[in-house]
Amino acid sequence: MTFDSRLSTLLQGLCHVEGYNETEFIQAHNAQAITSVRMHPLKRPASYAGGSVVAEGSKIPWCGNGLYLPQRPLFTLDPAYHGGAYYVQEASSMFLEQVWNTAIIDTGSLRVLDLCAAPGGKSTHLATLLQGGSLLIANEVIRNRATILEENITRWGYTNNWVSCNSPRDFGKLEGYFDAIVIDAPCSGSGLFRKDEQAIAHWSESNVALCATRQKRIIADVWPALKENGILIYATCSYSMEEDEHILDWLAGEYSIQPISVPLQQKWGIVETLSPLKKMAGYRFFPGKVQGEGFFIAAVIKQERAGSINAGRHKTVHLPKIKEQAGHLLAGDNIHYIETVKDNYNAIAPAHEADWQLLQKSLYFRKVGLPIGSPAQKEWLPAHAAALSTELN
Ligand code: SAM
Repeated sequence: MTFDSRLSTLLQGLCHVEGYNETEFIQAHNAQAITSVRMHPLKRPASYAGGSVVAEGSKIPWCGNGLYLPQRPLFTLDPAYHGGAYYVQEASSMFLEQVWNTAIIDTGSLRVLDLCAAPGGKSTHLATLLQGGSLLIANEVIRNRATILEENITRWGYTNNWVSCNSPRDFGKLEGYFDAIVIDAPCSGSGLFRKDEQAIAHWSESNVALCATRQKRIIADVWPALKENGILIYATCSYSMEEDEHILDWLAGEYSIQPISVPLQQKWGIVETLSPLKKMAGYRFFPGKVQGEGFFIAAVIKQERAGSINAGRHKTVHLPKIKEQAGHLLAGDNIHYIETVKDNYNAIAPAHEADWQLLQKSLYFRKVGLPIGSPAQKEWLPAHAAALSTELN
């Protein structure tokens, strides 16, 4: 890969970033991109008819279920892939797990938003990290990308992982509702140069500036929805400081926040940086230093008062009759059945019934709980999602 004169401005900027080594970086960009997957903790690839193309791999040190593969197989021909036995995901971004485990204490009642979620890498990862009683909303503003997100979340099979299609501003009304918000922001994409030729073609300084403005707007729009002492996790796949450390400086200038430091092992090759003005910690991934692509992530605590919208008291919408007809599909008994669209029924955790009643007033949902199907003349017509569920009987 050649870094033409346009991209050399990016490299010049990087010379000021701690831990950056130009020779290592250019060498890494002439090597092949790395292939990695994150295994589903509950589904076993070998159990699928015909086995799976994911037969061996070496462990990604910062992610319990992450594996580097020796080569890139044709995933789309693999039944285990379609069954959600693994998710094909870039290794650096799996560091979310370390950030999450450092920043979050999950008591089983968290409300978590993954705001920019398509195609679903971070959301499927978060779903496996969350306790069953917590609720994860995976949101994507662009409609056709929300369809892909919904497919991937359905394949992954968690009932407590819902999908919405809303703009960040729509969430702003839910004051103080979320314990944690993940913003994997749309960015200029330089971290993906090795994987994606399109990322090189689309890169420009003006796009970096445009993305930085949009990133601030997204954060500002959703900020009211984060609780006092809630956690914001911010990530990009850009190397540009304008989209990474400068955003942290802006955030610390606008709001009252505390940075979170994530313990690192030196052998991982991940670089901790501090934002130039406010000294907020962030984590950078340079190909050549880490086994993975370019990535940036940081977590902060909101240390200011927030409003408090409350799901509060509600009348149950559980339908015992649907449980009688469709309950046999799912293992376990602590499940409620609700009607989301006429004649279409969904299973949800009883603790999330109040959330459904509150959230449906301001959000447009593509998936609520687990779609379970509809009644036919004499029998139950199961939804495809039920077959992919981790709760399948
Ligand atoms: N988190 C995803 C994952 O791990 O698979 C990747 C997210 S991608 C980096 C950023 C997402 O933000 C894209 O799906 C894009 O459609 C969405 N997006 C674009 N413009 C947006 C905006 N103005 N507000 C919110 N999201 C936006």
